[in-house]
Amino acid sequence: MSESQPVQLTAINGTRFSRPAPGRDGSLDTLETALASVPAYQSWRKLDPGPGTDIDHRYSRLPALAKGTMRALGVRAFVPSDQDFDAGMASGAIEYVQTSGSTDEQVTNLWCQEWWNASERASWRLHSRAAQTLTGAQPEAILTSPLCAGMPCETGYLPFEARRLGRFLFLNEKIDPTEWTPEHMDRMVDELNRFRPQSLEANPSFLARLSQHIARARRKVVQPRMIILTYEYPSLLHYRFIREVFSAPLASSYGSTECGYVFMECEAGRLHQNTAFCRVDFQPFTAAHGGPWVGRILVTTFNNPWYFVVRFDIGDLVRLEPQGACPCGRSEGLTLAAIEGRVKNVTLTPEGKAVTQRQVDDAISQVMGIEQYEVRQIGRNQYEASIALAPSCAPSACEKQAREALESVYGGGAKVSVAIARALSPELPGKYRLVKPLLPVDPDSLFERGPVSLKADPRGPGCP
Ligand SMILES: [Zn+2]
Repeated sequence: MSESQPVQLTAINGTRFSRPAPGRDGSLDTLETALASVPAYQSWRKLDPGPGTDIDHRYSRLPALAKGTMRALGVRAFVPSDQDFDAGMASGAIEYVQTSGSTDEQVTNLWCQEWWNASERASWRLHSRAAQTLTGAQPEAILTSPLCAGMPCETGYLPFEARRLGRFLFLNEKIDPTEWTPEHMDRMVDELNRFRPQSLEANPSFLARLSQHIARARRKVVQPRMIILTYEYPSLLHYRFIREVFSAPLASSYGSTECGYVFMECEAGRLHQNTAFCRVDFQPFTAAHGGPWVGRILVTTFNNPWYFVVRFDIGDLVRLEPQGACPCGRSEGLTLAAIEGRVKNVTLTPEGKAVTQRQVDDAISQVMGIEQYEVRQIGRNQYEASIALAPSCAPSACEKQAREALESVYGGGAKVSVAIARALSPELPGKYRLVKPLLPVDPDSLFERGPVSLKADPRGPGCP
């Protein structure tokens, strides 16, 4: 298990960080079942203060579950001992699934489709248009890497019928969207207009690329009733390009193969916890790194009879909503102002202060003319960026503005170089990593280990 000892929020601020009372959500049942009968958690039993102790305190005494630990212990260690694993596999109730990505990201998980579908349905109630539109039966188009969902085909193209599965249409069969030809993107538009999906689920960078083509080619495209962004971090650049051609409500859906659907963006732009299907513990950055409103999250899943995931370090940073209840009125569980990006994408200022992916994105996305970017920290005070530009903009002006934007993020001691690229490709399995530290950053050094008190921030949302 991770050696860090994440802490709980110790000050409950109004209703914003409220949880249902013990017994009303799955925290108690899940913990007691995991400790009693799931092999992976047997070594945790001695750390548990025990029944009768506050449930949040009990969770806070337990370690984080790291991806490497899941990989080392293997799938069956996370199945309750009273479940008949072989019968579950034979009946098709469960199956193995391999998460994609780089080697350190890959884990074999146990997939339970029934639980996954229920987790997804529960998340829809967190956005009013999703609650109306997404029924589980609506026609849906999906635009992502075929290694995430769909049918890959790197030589030639697959016909429309070969990319249909039930109510779904997979618009794309290519891993790298920079390889899409205008004809391929025209085909996607034609298929959207023919299929007329109620909902469109998309990797934001992929939908941004298609949106740029639609705008430039002056194509008309059908408007789905709802667009769900998922699979990767949505940049402000992606939102700008998508908004040029799609007017449907956009919502970000956040989760993972291990954890199901964890947060869903509401119509007021905050992200709400899917409390019926998960518990989320928050471990803030230290004040020196910009805490306590930004931190990482540990996810515990509920209601999956086959697979117990407790305090899983999902690897992302979030920013808590520092103002009162969300304007949408939802108040159960954690409310987030934003996802801040992957922990492994944190870079440091020359003085060693953490900079999240979102901070970089907020700055560089203000430079008009940039269509794509990647920022790398190559030394303590050295940063380089690659930017791909719109055909109409002046390279020298964009280069200068990009450098100034990054200097504003990293401070006066930063040495920033910017190079123009023709186009930038995603990493496998088809996700962009917009910011990368190329020097070692110890993630555990960024987070609080002791109790932290959170108070309402009078400066308003987004200004903690
Ligand atoms: Zn809301």
